[in-house]
Amino acid sequence: CGIVGVLGRVEVAPRIVDSLKRLEYRGYDSAGVATLVDGQLVRRRAEGKLRNLESVLENAPLAGSAGIGHTRWATHGAPTVTNAHPHLAGSVAVVHNGIIENYLDLRDEVSAAGAVLDTETDTEVVAHLINLAMAAGKSPRDAVADVLPRLKGAFALALLFAGEDDLLIGARKGSPLAIGHGEGEMFLGSDAIALSPFTDRITYLEEGDWAVLTRSSVDIFDRDNTQVARPEAKSSVTS
Ligand code: GLU
Repeated sequence: CGIVGVLGRVEVAPRIVDSLKRLEYRGYDSAGVATLVDGQLVRRRAEGKLRNLESVLENAPLAGSAGIGHTRWATHGAPTVTNAHPHLAGSVAVVHNGIIENYLDLRDEVSAAGAVLDTETDTEVVAHLINLAMAAGKSPRDAVADVLPRLKGAFALALLFAGEDDLLIGARKGSPLAIGHGEGEMFLGSDAIALSPFTDRITYLEEGDWAVLTRSSVDIFDRDNTQVARPEAKSSVTS
């Protein structure tokens, strides 16, 4: 339902929760955050209100200056902690808005390839497909380029990779996603309101676009994997 991604300079988990709070108006049933700590993906998730996620984070704080967060409105699988995003598979973490319509076929495929599925969601297969492509030797960027055309349905995705402290990948098809440009920081958000605590310099991805972000660069590709330029706009949403 709500997506936030941050490549920051200081601890990002509290900033991600702050941004998710701006998205509460959209409604949600659970929430979660993943960050990189010493190159490892770590996450905290909770059912119900963001207050519950904040309690989890108070008891078990999450370090790391790169992270992704999500408020979930369950479509596939009950609103439990296990089904809450981010979903992890090996070296990738994913948050997802929308529905992967062909997830049952993809679940069969990744299971046959040895993946063990932990959740009832349509989302988890995305992490497994990308992880399998990377395990076969592809870079994060090439793995995402391979997997995106295989996903049917509507999605906005934000992806974080183990061992890649200066990388976030986002994709949109049928569900909005925007890039926020900071000073030595870069952001992803499902709308300008999500980005409002961070920056007013925004680039909206167009239908079928996906983007590779570092703290100092943005490369945007269209559905044919051709690099494209998208304009930067000044957001009128102020925090
Ligand atoms: N279909 C996904 C799920 O049920 C994402 C739902 C959402 O947009 O929050 O987990």
